[in-house]
Amino acid sequence: MDCIFCKIISKKIPSDIVYEDDNTIAFLDISPVNKGHTLIVPKKHSENLIASEEKDIHESLNVIKKITPAIIKTVKADGWNLGVNNGPAAGQIVKHTHFHIIPRFSNDGLKHWHKKSYAEAESKQIAEAIRKEI
Ligand code: AMP
Ligand code: ZN
Repeated sequence: MDCIFCKIISKKIPSDIVYEDDNTIAFLDISPVNKGHTLIVPKKHSENLIASEEKDIHESLNVIKKITPAIIKTVKADGWNLGVNNGPAAGQIVKHTHFHIIPRFSNDGLKHWHKKSYAEAESKQIAEAIRKEI
């Protein structure tokens, strides 16, 4: 398997690691959206969030809670986004589950997603279809 994050985890390629324990690693994104952009990565390989084991996700969320205040303090951010890209259509490039911590600055110029609206009764139909599917 040719997975760049598995290579980072096994130290076959270098990265700027900010935190590591038995289950999780966190390192700086090589192409940051903003300074301090950090990836939190379960060490056990899985392709995406849904394919991950629950305990690995829990561990990653614990690490996010633990290290994000330090990231924000270090780069003096005004806020932060937590991001997970799932599938190519959503911008996932690396097929190893990971969370993006993106520090935000009041003047960073980034725009939030453009929002759409539902047609008459469409939201009720979609919500019902999702409820049936769960
Ligand atoms: P995604 O688009 O959610 O799959 O995000 C993958 C992220 O991994 C991108 O933001 C890349 O900039 C980042 N990335 C790719 N290769 C490396 C690397 N060797 N070290 C650090 N970050 C990387
Ligand atoms: Zn991997």
